[in-house]
Amino acid sequence: SVHDRIDQVEGQVKSYITQTRETAIAQAAAVDAKLARGEALTLLSGIPGIIKDNLCTKGVKTTCASHILERFVPPYDATVIEKLAANDLVMTGKANMDEFAMGGSTENSGFFPTRNPWNLDCVPGGSSGGSAAAVAAGEAIWALGSDTGGSIRQPAAYCGVVGLKPTYGRVSRYGLIAYASSLDQIGPITRDVTDSAHVMNVIAGYDPKDSTSINAPVPDYTKSLVNNVKGLKIGLPKEYFVAGMDPEVEAAVRKAIEQLVALGAECREISMPHTEYALSAYYLLAPAEASSNLARYDGVSFGHREQGNDIIDMYKKTRSHAFGTEVKRRIMLGTYALSSGYYDAYYLKALKVRTLVKQDFDKAFEQVDVIITPTAPTTAFKIGEKTSDPLAMYLQDVCTIPVNLAGVPGISVPCGFAGGMPVGLQIIGKPLGEETILRTAYTFE
Ligand code: GLN
Repeated sequence: SVHDRIDQVEGQVKSYITQTRETAIAQAAAVDAKLARGEALTLLSGIPGIIKDNLCTKGVKTTCASHILERFVPPYDATVIEKLAANDLVMTGKANMDEFAMGGSTENSGFFPTRNPWNLDCVPGGSSGGSAAAVAAGEAIWALGSDTGGSIRQPAAYCGVVGLKPTYGRVSRYGLIAYASSLDQIGPITRDVTDSAHVMNVIAGYDPKDSTSINAPVPDYTKSLVNNVKGLKIGLPKEYFVAGMDPEVEAAVRKAIEQLVALGAECREISMPHTEYALSAYYLLAPAEASSNLARYDGVSFGHREQGNDIIDMYKKTRSHAFGTEVKRRIMLGTYALSSGYYDAYYLKALKVRTLVKQDFDKAFEQVDVIITPTAPTTAFKIGEKTSDPLAMYLQDVCTIPVNLAGVPGISVPCGFAGGMPVGLQIIGKPLGEETILRTAYTFE
């Protein structure tokens, strides 16, 4: 069973913050009983999945990999968990991640790093590194992650699995502990494109509890699992094939594109001129929103509290002690960008850049059906290699961040290897264009 596999490899991979083995066994038994009674099951019924630890699970510790929420047990389920439960969820546990989803390697977990199953000296990527590593190592069949600037797609690429970030608003974020609310989306990390479609069928859809959720019918995503890219118009933005990219990664991506062309897709080079500003805009906007979202962890209502001489002292001690370095860095950056006198120069400017990036996508999609890029400029790097250089870490997200700024969907599919490590191909779609990117991705199945 999946638990035998977890026992075999978890000591090395360390994907799980919390295992919920007894509950999983009970959930699986309930599926068996249903089957015995001849009741209808769905395709996801009883298939074990792991959930990123920033998704609220009723009665199960939800930590965001932070000491500040180390003992937080939510009194409610996220909407996606409710939807999965209605499909006979078997949850093996909660996945490790970068603290509050801030990071690209899972080294920022407040508890321990996760390792890449392909090479234990390497990071699994992040921030959904536990989710991706668990699926790659067979410690779960599917996973949920969250993606604010690439946190589903980049770890999927590094671990050789499939990661889909849906259109902003396609999946309800109710019960997802907020990092940067205007960018956060929940999505599946799976072994293949078929499983991605199955999980999407369950989690997508309108939710009145999330005011940003889109009220549009949910298609049957498995209808996209067809081998047909004839006439598909693909745009290759020249700004994404940049210096600093590993030539072997580029070669694998170009080869995958040739394969699509051989099957009848049409390829053209396009230009998305504001791409180079996207990363800077993101690292103002995301920390700004985070500084506001994380203000609630003050030692009063949630989780950890330190003793202090008075309430201000208590706030200070609690936050200084229980937040990690990267979280503090972002809170400070974000607070600075939002402070009066700097707001126009930083936050407002970044919002304008975001609009320009979005317009690049709008224009591109007047000419093409999908945009294809590498998911990340390199393959998984060594643990510790970039921990002392936040900027080098941030650069891993150059190809994924613009997609969140624009709110459009993107999927990463494995497209080969470079230096023995998996390479991810990113396929970006129009708003609510999940069907087209799944169909394109299915070519590589
Ligand atoms: N690595 C990016 C960051 O640190 C993206 C994280 C994410 O998508 N949650 O912000």
